[in-house]
Amino acid sequence: MFQIAIDGHSSCGKSTLARALARELGYIYIDSGAMYRAVTLFFLENRVDLYDQQQIMDNLHKLEVSFVLAEAGNRTLLNGRDVEDRIREMDVAAKVSPVATIPEVRRKMVKRQRELAQNQGVVMDGRDIGSVVFPKAALKIFLTATVDRRVERRQRQLLEQGHVIDYEDILHNLYERDYIDSTRSDSPLMKAPDAIVIDNSNLSPEEQLAICALLARH
Ligand code: C5P
Repeated sequence: MFQIAIDGHSSCGKSTLARALARELGYIYIDSGAMYRAVTLFFLENRVDLYDQQQIMDNLHKLEVSFVLAEAGNRTLLNGRDVEDRIREMDVAAKVSPVATIPEVRRKMVKRQRELAQNQGVVMDGRDIGSVVFPKAALKIFLTATVDRRVERRQRQLLEQGHVIDYEDILHNLYERDYIDSTRSDSPLMKAPDAIVIDNSNLSPEEQLAICALLARH
């Protein structure tokens, strides 16, 4: 079964492209970032100390992340509870990258990501999909865009969800997540050697989809 990996920095438009591409190809779409966000929410709600290895181990096995897959938009479930909207809020965004540096968290998520993709075509977006989760993916895209574009997109997305957040606050969060994601010791964000780089700063969603659909069918 075909796997398509879309990796890149935060707020590059990965999910928009991945969702559209999955629909176009009749594959499922999995947002791996949502999984790390759901773990983060669980840790926040249960006041897990991120520096306490024992607390992390004790809590990790108490959580299960799954999805309700739907054309209109997937919903992320944490132990069966719909947390799709909650995990997009800034308190989760502020803590998700430190949580994603924890090796035990990554191991559990990578295993779950592979399970979710079993026996079906999948488009998955994230940071390590082409390099770690599916090193043999049929197509690997590494998406990039200027920082201004990324902040604008993120601001628009948050506004649609009813959150008014300052440009500077979003910029700070993006820089911080990029830095932590790129410098962590365990599977840092990086372009897989065989990934195709697309700078989408000046591409519409339709243009990105057309390019990627062509590449996928090639
Ligand atoms: O994609 P999104 O921005 O929602 O991801 C949230 C965070 O989850 C990222 O900033 C990154 O720290 C982490 N992440 C990761 N590996 C992935 C997907 C996301 O470390 N495959």
